[in-house]
Parts: sequence; C-alpha cells; structure tokens
Amino acid sequence: MISFEGLYIIYFICAILFIFAIKGLTSPKTAQSGNYLAIIGMLIASFVTILVLPSRNDFGILLSVLIAGLSGTIWANKIKITNLPQMVALLNGFGGLSSLLIGLAQIFQQNTQKIDSSLGIVVSSIAFSGSLIAFLKLQNTYKLPKLPYFNFLNLILFFCIIAVWFEFSVSKNIYMIYVLLGLSLAFGATITMPILGADMPIVIAILNACSGFAASFIGFALTNIALIITGSLVGASGSILSVAMTKAMNKNLISIFFKTQNNAQNKALSQKIAKTGSPADAAYLMKNADKVIIVPGYGMAASGAQYALKNMTSVLQNKYHVQIKFAIHPVAGRMPGHMNVLLAEAKVEYDDVYTLEQINPEFETADVAYVIGANDIVNPSAKTDSSSPLYGMPILEASKAKTVFVVKRSLNAGYSGLENELFYAPNTLMLYGDAKTVTQEIISML
Ligand code: NAP
Repeated sequence: MISFEGLYIIYFICAILFIFAIKGLTSPKTAQSGNYLAIIGMLIASFVTILVLPSRNDFGILLSVLIAGLSGTIWANKIKITNLPQMVALLNGFGGLSSLLIGLAQIFQQNTQKIDSSLGIVVSSIAFSGSLIAFLKLQNTYKLPKLPYFNFLNLILFFCIIAVWFEFSVSKNIYMIYVLLGLSLAFGATITMPILGADMPIVIAILNACSGFAASFIGFALTNIALIITGSLVGASGSILSVAMTKAMNKNLISIFFKTQNNAQNKALSQKIAKTGSPADAAYLMKNADKVIIVPGYGMAASGAQYALKNMTSVLQNKYHVQIKFAIHPVAGRMPGHMNVLLAEAKVEYDDVYTLEQINPEFETADVAYVIGANDIVNPSAKTDSSSPLYGMPILEASKAKTVFVVKRSLNAGYSGLENELFYAPNTLMLYGDAKTVTQEIISML
C-alpha cells in the first residue's frame, strides 16, 4: 500500500511530467514527445489514485477504463483533422461533465455544503452545456434557436447564479444545489449560442479553461493534489490561449459575449467581376519570382493539399531558387495551430514558417502571394469596413504582394459568411478548383 508521503511524491512527479508536457506542446518539433509525457503522467496519476481508494469495485473500474479508453482511441484515430475542433469541444464537455458528477456525488454523499464542490458544480455545468452548444455549432448539423434579448437573459442568469450560490453557502439548504445546477447549465448554453463563427476558437479556449478550473475546484473538494495541479494547468493554459487569441483578433471578451448575430454582407461586391488565372500563369510567375509567400487556410486542410504544397515549394526552391515563406494566421483553419500541424506533417521546414507579425511587412516585397484555401484571414474588410463582423481582426496583408493567386473552388464566403474584396482586387487572379488538384497542376507545369 502507498503511504501518504509516497502518494504526494508520485503526484509531484506527475505534476512535473505535465509541466514538461505543456512545454513540449509549445513547438511542433517537440509536441509529440510532450503528448507522450502527458499520457505517462496521467496514467501514473490515475493508477495510484485508484490504488489508494478506500473501497473500490475493481471490475467496474477496469470495465470503464477499457470502454472509455478504447472508444477514445478509435475515435481519435478516425477523426478527420478538419473535425478536430468539434472533438476538442466535446472533450471539454466530457471534462466538465466528469467534474460535475463528482461535485454532485461529493455534496450528496457527504451531505456537506462545501464551497469548493459548489463552485466546481457551477463552473463545470457552464463548461459542459457551453461545450455541447459549441460542438453543435461547429458541427453545423442543428440550427440553434435565436432567442430574443440574449444579452439581457445572460446578465439575469449571471446575477441569479451569484445570488443562489451565496444563498446555498449561507443557508446550507442542500436542495438549492438543484437551482444552481439548472441556472449554470442554462447560462453555459445561452452564453455560447449567440457567439459569431469567427469568435468560436476563443470561446472554445475559454470553455477549455473552465473545464480545467472546474477540475481544480473538485480537486480541492477531494483533496486530490494531482487533480488540483492538472486542473490549474489546463485552466491557466486555456486562459492564456484565450487572451492570446483575443489579442490576435483585436477583440475583447465583452464584445465577444455581449454582441448579437450580425450577418451583414458587402452586397455591392457581388456585382464585381473577379479575374481568373490558370495553373500555367501561376507556374510561370512563381518560377520567375524572387520571393513567394504562401498563405494556407481551411481549404488546404479540407483538400489535404499540404503534401502537394510541400512538393511545389521544393521544386520552386531547388530548381528555380525562389525564396518561399509560409504565412500563418493565428486563427487560420478550424483550430489553434491547425496550419502548423498540417505543414509539419508534410515536413515543411519550421524555419520557412512565419507568424502574422513577422510576415506582414514582407508582402510588399513579395512577387507572388499564393493564397490556398484561405478567405477570412486575408479579408481586407477586417481593416477597412467598420460594419464588418471581422472588423479589428488583424489579417495577412496578401493584397500587398505584386500578384495574388487565390486558390479556391468558387467565390463563396468562408467561415464568417462574408464576401471578400481581395478576390476583386486588380492584382488578384483566381485559380478555381480543389486546392490539391490546382497545386498538382502547377507542379506539373513547373
Ligand atoms: P475560411 O475563411 O473558412 O475560408 C476557407 C475557404 O476555403 C473557403 O472560402 C472555401 O472556398 C475554401 N475551400 C474549402 N474547401 C476547399 C478545397 N477543397 N479546395 C480549395 N478551397 C477550398 O478559412 P480561413 O481563411 O482559414 O479562416 C478561418 C476562419 O475559421 C476564421 O473565420 C476563423 O475565425 C474561423 N475559425 C477558426 C478556428 C481556429 O481555431 N483556427 C476555429 C473555428 C473557426 P470555396 O468553397 O469557394 O472553395
């Protein structure tokens, strides 16, 4: 049997593993080893926690671990990379649900009114229902109701939660927990429902932070140091990610949560005509260029064009000595780091990949910007049109390159549903078609 001190030493080792895991996840080079460290830390922490349980049903635990572990592994292997944000949203929700169930069990089993359990219940309920709504919105399979006066409703729910939580803490009336539970679940759902598409990544990071903090509160209730540490790490990293993304999109949290749906379109643009280019034009201009900047977006991921893109850049670099740089927008694709993961998968050199701040001053000196499956992240209305829902979001300034090639299947809008002025710019040529097919055609011309 493990002694109390022994248990704490093991948890401490797990905490160190988790911290190094997060450090590893900060770069694509070390991300995989970071993941392995986290898996090892979590396995050890779970195993010793089960081992020291005063009474336990070994068969039940083994069966749950097998069923959950197996379905998680199958699901993670099968999921398309384009659907990862939905998976992350759902996993956040499961994290919230686990903390919620433990918090409820803690309160009802021990008949106590512990502050940490009740806080855990509030935060985990918000994380749970908010994540389910985020999942449904990202999945796009279910039209969510548009309630009137969302902002007013959210404010009322918020103050009710605070009032009921105080009442619960003071009166020790255990049944108030049902009211708290209902209000928190409703608040999680109604605060997420009106979020605009372009703001979803930030909300997912916030919900991720909520599920971490919920686990941490429950860790205090259970006096489980491993849960406190992992919960705090998830909570803190989720919060840092949301702040970083909010800054990257030049938004603030109040405007994200307290704004109504705005589907304003630039109607005048539809009348304009976009010029069309051909893969031969793109091959000719790129092989004669000094500098080409590639701007990948969601469409590259959807078509799986990263390998063709890597081949195209290798030919341009090795055969024609063109300088190639990849420009990555913080919210390109459908999840943080989406483009970095795909480019790393295709073995694009890390040194060729640049952030928005690094690359924007370079577009002016680029001969060609090759925008592949990207739309919102290069939409100039984010800078020029104060009525645009994208207004204020920093964009990749691809339009400043001498020639811009935009590879996509049509003039259709991207995630935000907005038209894009860049397609009609005098120096832009559209290359219509699937991102992978078009890039392969360019390679054959080269
Ligand atoms: P986007 O604005 O969604 O545009 C992607 C474009 O790719 C579409 O306009 C589509 O045009 C094209 N496309 C789709 N399939 C294609 C294919 N097979 N071949 C060629 N083109 C294809 O993408 P983005 O510029 O990367 O911007 C990301 C957006 O997603 C932002 O609004 C961001 O806020 C949001 N978002 C980001 C995250 C995140 O964490 N990164 C999470 C959720 C939401 P066609 O249909 O004409 O081909």
